[in-house]
Amino acid sequence: MDATPSFLDQMIAAGHLVPTGVDGLYGRSGMFEDVIARFEAAVTDIGKDDGAEVLRFPPAVTRKQIETSGYMKSFPQLAGTVHSFCGGDHDHALLLEKIDTGEDWTQDQVATDVALTPAACYPLYPMMAAQGALPEAGRLFDVQSYCFRHEPSTDPCRMQLFRMREYVRAGTPDQVQDFRELWIERAKSLIGQLELPFDVVPANDPFFGRAGKMMKLSQRDQGLKLEMVIPVANAQPTACLSFNYHQDHFATTWGVELADGAPAHTGCVGFGLERLALALFKHHGLDVRGWPAGVRGLLWG
Ligand code: ATP
Ligand code: ZN
Repeated sequence: MDATPSFLDQMIAAGHLVPTGVDGLYGRSGMFEDVIARFEAAVTDIGKDDGAEVLRFPPAVTRKQIETSGYMKSFPQLAGTVHSFCGGDHDHALLLEKIDTGEDWTQDQVATDVALTPAACYPLYPMMAAQGALPEAGRLFDVQSYCFRHEPSTDPCRMQLFRMREYVRAGTPDQVQDFRELWIERAKSLIGQLELPFDVVPANDPFFGRAGKMMKLSQRDQGLKLEMVIPVANAQPTACLSFNYHQDHFATTWGVELADGAPAHTGCVGFGLERLALALFKHHGLDVRGWPAGVRGLLWG
């Protein structure tokens, strides 16, 4: 028998993650949340002179947005849609009876206009399109949201509901590529100062099915997605940040235009906040009071 508890078990025993009985769905301790808040404050500090428009959306998008964005084409396996009971008294009685007898009651639920946010930047593209052509300087946003992905797992780094902090750039290809380069350098410096080992590697999104294989290869070949990976709970290091160049994909999908009417380009840098907190607990210990002075100074100084 393996006597060493897994990192997930250690995080649960320390009270940092509270299990619910569903893989990938956890409560968080005050200390865990404080680490995320401090980490986010450090990120905000790095970007403070950039003039980003700060926006926060609830962790849901419209069902229409999920349809138009092509999410069901590329990632149907990850999507979460919200369904509700829309019947009358008679249907309600049947519903309760089914729950009592252990029958499937979910078939009678009706799709609402709401779906769970798959990535923090999703609400921005239709918003930008609705607000008109971009100014010459393009636009820059700071967003953060809980995101849902249906990928239940006992890997603590693969949650079903987790937070993503993102900076999102829209503008010319040069503006977006410069933004991405800048954040790769900033992230290297920040994660280095947090005394975490890392690497920046080419990556791809988990596109679905046979057609998805081609999409993955092409995304990698063109260097459109880079990830900063950090060893956390697995033999393979975990992607804790991603640096994405969408070219004109979202802009064409939604109609985001440059001042001259050409489709804009977009890109985003995404910080996986739970993964980063987990990496810090893994490398520096389960109690933040024992973390290295430099790390404590950066986060709480
Ligand atoms: P992965 O390849 O690990 O599935 P991804 O490429 O789908 O991740 P992105 O869409 O780039 O991830 O999401 C941005 C960041 O959000 C990731 O770099 C990661 O840190 C975090 N993230 C993604 N999925 C999860 C998850 N299931 N649980 C926790 N954090 C996640
Ligand atoms: Zn994004």
